[in-house]
Parts: sequence; structure tokens; C-alpha cells
Amino acid sequence: MDTDVSEHGHEATHRDADDEGIFATVAVIGAGAMGSGIAQVAAAAGHHVVLVDAAAGAAATARERIAASLDRLVGKGRASREEADATLERLRTADSVRDLPECGLVIEAVPEDLRLKRRLLADLSERQPANTVLATNTSSFDIDAIARDVIDPERMLGLHFFNPPTVMALVEVVSGELTSAAYVEHATALMRAWGKTPVRCVSTPGFIVNRVARPFYGEAQRLVEAGVADAATIDWVLRERGGFPMGPLELTDFIGQDVNLAVGTSVWEQTGHDERYAPTDLQRRLVEEGRLGRKTGSGIYTYAADGSVEGAEPDLELAGRLVGGPVVTDPLARTVAMLVNEAVDLVHRGEATADDVDIAMRLGVRYPRGPIEWGREIGFDVVAAQIGELDTAFPGGRYRPSPALTDGSLA
Ligand code: NAD
Repeated sequence: MDTDVSEHGHEATHRDADDEGIFATVAVIGAGAMGSGIAQVAAAAGHHVVLVDAAAGAAATARERIAASLDRLVGKGRASREEADATLERLRTADSVRDLPECGLVIEAVPEDLRLKRRLLADLSERQPANTVLATNTSSFDIDAIARDVIDPERMLGLHFFNPPTVMALVEVVSGELTSAAYVEHATALMRAWGKTPVRCVSTPGFIVNRVARPFYGEAQRLVEAGVADAATIDWVLRERGGFPMGPLELTDFIGQDVNLAVGTSVWEQTGHDERYAPTDLQRRLVEEGRLGRKTGSGIYTYAADGSVEGAEPDLELAGRLVGGPVVTDPLARTVAMLVNEAVDLVHRGEATADDVDIAMRLGVRYPRGPIEWGREIGFDVVAAQIGELDTAFPGGRYRPSPALTDGSLA
């Protein structure tokens, strides 16, 4: 396998795409929100792309959406007419994986259904040459579980793009137990050549971003449940004092309470119901009541027809008293301590590097600082003491300091 796509940027990709036979062609399976974006990125990077969708006409419709998206880029001066036309010319569609040519890379982006993905990847592994890289865009499944029936599973890995793939730079390159290092190198270099910022991790529940972000939502929900402060005040603290682009509670309304609960529940189940990831009663109740957030007009907040939040003013006097006070009732210190703890624990278990964790959280969810860098600033010993205080206040295993906070490995 040729891994010489690194460090040469787009020009090399164009040359590779023209000269290297099957490595020139990328297939994307599933032409929904993610697949169509990924196909556009691959075509813009110089590959011949085949976009496949099982629903009749869906791939062709996606191609029209991509054409419109390219027109908008031209309109904004971000691409020339020639580049946009050439990108679209390199992109064709198909209704079945039976119609695929031999490809260098196939990226699966069908709905999050393990049996569907498992069958599809097994089928692709039979149809494609033995060295075709097989990638899944799964957000939650273990790579090995998807690869179970794949022939030559050392070429199977995760390429977890963020939504929308044309805008979001981050790609988590996820390796399973059987993935070979050469394929990980190749995929990482390829993502760089596509103009993306790849980070690597092993196939751990939630990968980097969806794992480390759990306490961002969970701590805020617990503070509301305990009556420490109302949602608007907590969101205000995290936004205005913490520098997060959105508060955790308004963000769950934006994402959808059902979607956020499903991601959290998946991590909780895959970690053997680790207390650290246990969903809150507050969120379960919201979902049961159909209060899913912005899309249903109510969630944590209630929304007017024009999308504005109704009757939720932060209590700035209360916020002033909480921030800098005991960690148990300080929304910012408590949240950051738990983010740091989660991030260093991932590194401690050898699942990702500290640099990659920080890059992932800054680019994937736009945190103002990487949590490990943040922990270094606060002092890992201070964070360990804060987690200890939380554990005393709420025993049961949720607040377990990671050994990495005190063993000096990340200092
Ligand atoms: P989507 O529902 O928008 O699109 C999925 C597409 O796959 C549909 O067009 C459907 O017709 C097609 N499809 C279904 N079965 C197929 C088959 N057997 N062969 C070919 N096409 C088939 O889904 P999405 O939001 O684009 O998500 C796709 C994947 O990406 C999921 O695994 C999801 O977890 C993951 N993901 C989603 C996001 C996100 O924010 N939407 C972010 C990261 C990862």
C-alpha cells in the first residue's frame, strides 16, 4: 500500500488521484447529511468519487445539493468556477454497491444501525480488492463490532467526520483491535491531504469528543436537579465566565435532548454502566415528555415561534456568588474539573495522546481551551482535590480522580 500521500497537501492528492489507479477512487455509501458532505470533500481534494444510496434517487438528489453548495462557494469567492465544475465532474452517483468500481477507500455513512453497517462492510470487503481501506463514519459503535464479518479486517477503521463535513476540520481516525498501523498512517495522511485535521484514537466508547464531552452536559444537569441554580444562570456562567460558545443546557436543547441522551446512554452502556456516564433523571424526563429542545419548541427552555427563549434570565448576583466558591456549587470549576479528569483518563488508558485530545475538543466542540492544557493551568493537583471534594459530597463512583492527575505523567 502506498502511504506517500503525507506532507504534500492538495497538489499531491491531485497527482495521486490522477496517477494511482484504484487509489484515485473513493466511494461514499449513504448520501445523507454526512455522506454527501464527505463526498464533496473527497471530490474537492481531487478524487473520483462515487456516492451510493440505497433509496432510489437519493444519491442524485444529494449530487444536486452538492452542486448548489459548490455554487455558494463560488458566490462567496471561496472557490473558482473551474474548481467547482471540476469537483462536480469527478462526482458520480450509484444506487447500489454492486455498481462500484475498484476503490482505494470506501467510507460508509449509512444510518447508525449496527447490523446494517456490519452487513454492508462485510459485503464491501468481498467486492473490493484486499487492500481497499474500509472506513465507517459511525459515531458510537465499536470498530471491531462493525468489522466482525469483514474479510481482511486490518484495513477497517473509523473516519469520524463532524457535521457538516465540508466545514468541520476535525476527523477522528479510529482504530480497532485488528486495524494495522500502516492503514491508520495512510488514512491519517489522506485526511491531512483533504485539508482536515485528523486525530487518532482507539475504539473507545464515544471516541474522544463524545467521551470527554459527557460531563459538560451531566454536571450542568445535576446542578439544576440539585436546585443550585436555574438553567439560564448555569449557561451564563459557562458561556461568559468559561468562554464556551454555548452553555451546556442550551446546547442540549440545540442538539436535541433525545439525541444527546442517546449518545450519553450509548457511552454509559458500553462502559458497563459506569456511574461517570449515567444519564440524569432530568434528561430522561424531558425526553419522556417529548420536550426535545428547539425542534419541539420546549426542552430545558421554552421557545417562542421566532426561536427566542421565553422567560429565562440569568441571576447574575447568584452567578457571582457561585463562581469561585466551593467546587460543589461552582458550575464552572466543577465542569472543568470533570472535563480535565475525563481527558487525562483517556490519555492514561493509552486511548489517545494529550495533544490529540486537546485538538479534538477545540475543533470538534469548540472548547475555548483543550482540557489537558486547561488542567495544566489550573494544576492537576488542584483538579484532583476538586474531584475528591465532589466524591465526598456525592459518593458512588461518579467522581473518581484519574491516576493521571497525581502520577505526574502529564505534568
Ligand atoms: P442520514 O440518515 O442523513 O443518511 C443516511 C443515508 O443512508 C440515507 O440517505 C439512507 O437512504 C442511506 N442508506 C440507508 N441504508 C443504506 C444502504 N444499505 N446502502 C446505501 N445507503 C443506505 O444519516 P447521517 O446523519 O448522514 O449519518 C450517517 C452516519 O454518520 C451515522 O452512522 C451517524 O451516526 C454518523 N454521524 C452523524 C453525524 C451527524 O451529526 N448527523 C455526525 C457524525 C457521524
